[in-house]
Amino acid sequence: MFKKILIANRGEIALRIQRACRELDIRAVMVYSEADREAKYVRLADEAVCIGPAASAHSYLNMPAIISAAEVTDAEAIHPGYGFLSENADFAERVEQSGFQFIGPTAASIRIMGDKVSAKQAMIRAGVPCVPGSEGELPDDPVQLRRIAKSVGYPVIIKAAGGGGGRGMRVVHTEAALVNAVVMTKAEAGAAFGNAAVYMEKFLQNPRHIEIQILADKFKNAVYLGERDCSMQRRHQKILEESPAPGISRKLIERIGERCVAACKKIGYRGAGTFEFLYENGEFYFIEMNTRVQVEHPVTEMVTGIDIVKTQIMVAADMKLPFTQRQIEMKGHAIECRINAEDPYNFMPSPGRVTTWHTPGGPGVRVDSHVYANYFVPPYYDSMVGKLITYGDTREQAMARMRCALLEMAVEGIKTNIPLHRELLNDAKFMAGGTNIHYLEHWLEQHKR
Ligand code: ADP
Repeated sequence: MFKKILIANRGEIALRIQRACRELDIRAVMVYSEADREAKYVRLADEAVCIGPAASAHSYLNMPAIISAAEVTDAEAIHPGYGFLSENADFAERVEQSGFQFIGPTAASIRIMGDKVSAKQAMIRAGVPCVPGSEGELPDDPVQLRRIAKSVGYPVIIKAAGGGGGRGMRVVHTEAALVNAVVMTKAEAGAAFGNAAVYMEKFLQNPRHIEIQILADKFKNAVYLGERDCSMQRRHQKILEESPAPGISRKLIERIGERCVAACKKIGYRGAGTFEFLYENGEFYFIEMNTRVQVEHPVTEMVTGIDIVKTQIMVAADMKLPFTQRQIEMKGHAIECRINAEDPYNFMPSPGRVTTWHTPGGPGVRVDSHVYANYFVPPYYDSMVGKLITYGDTREQAMARMRCALLEMAVEGIKTNIPLHRELLNDAKFMAGGTNIHYLEHWLEQHKR
């Protein structure tokens, strides 16, 4: 096992990884930007190194600064968390070339999955069902474009091969709008992701977002840890997740889970990963793979009892997965509400000084957050300030505990989306389970104020 790990991230996930290190008796080195200097989780680390100014381009995305920090502190491995450099194949490569272990898959795996066109092709080869669409990158020729769209069938969605974070997508309903949409998405993708390649998929009308968590070691052992339902989204961004997904049979989950495991073995995948699917009319359609730990990993930890972050570290240290598929049992139900520093109704970011931070407790309640009273939420990064997770024997119990937890939670000084979560947890359709990816946007439209 490693003796010392450098955590190349910030906020709640940096603290989450630090906790896993403590449990494994590994020393944790935190890197931080000038904006995060005072944060308690930075002070709590065994060592901390400033890697630059607030702007992430000069700190959390600054590869040479992070690698030098690992050198000066004699860390053996680097955990990238999520976001920032976590899915950057060049970073993974540079980390390994500098003699450190990257806690994640190989650079080659990241590269294949980072390009959604090559990811889909790899999945088709591995027998994972995909959304019907163009065979690969779209051509420029309008005649060919129209032919492809016609065979896929309108409405279609044009997506950037290098896209992420819900950006670089455009829905097209008619042939008249097609060519212009492709040109615009290409231009945006080139500017935003440095890769102008786009592809086409059938736009599914009412799908749910269901994803499969997997873990794999370098000895070709791989398991799936059930599913998560992440359909509650705004602008393709998840805000509430749960496991298991209400109303989907275990048989169907097993079948798709086994496909994902087979794909991992086929591509020689190592570490934690998530296969994201759209689910409609009883069918799963692969959309992309995330080659890192995800924000919503705690709901899976709660229902399986498996520590995903610890396991990531263990398999990166060339240890074998400590469990087999047969030993993995899903029990109970877990829900996660992402707590964002933003206006609950117009979604404007709300950074600033937190004056009150009172977190809930009691049976089945977990809070993953780096925030405390008097913490300053910097304006430079993602607005998520924490995650509230509840567990229950049943979905009803998990929801009841979440309602109670949301009631107890008190945050002052900044605005948060807690009021929105409180309303959602009392919404009849959400309570019934199985709402689709458009539900929240429609709900917001109807509840405009
Ligand atoms: P990103 O990497 O930006 O998150 P994804 O490919 O995972 O992009 O898609 C994000 C979200 O966009 C999905 O959860 C879904 O809400 C929507 N989406 C993507 N592809 C389709 C599609 N073919 N049909 C309908 N909705 C889609």
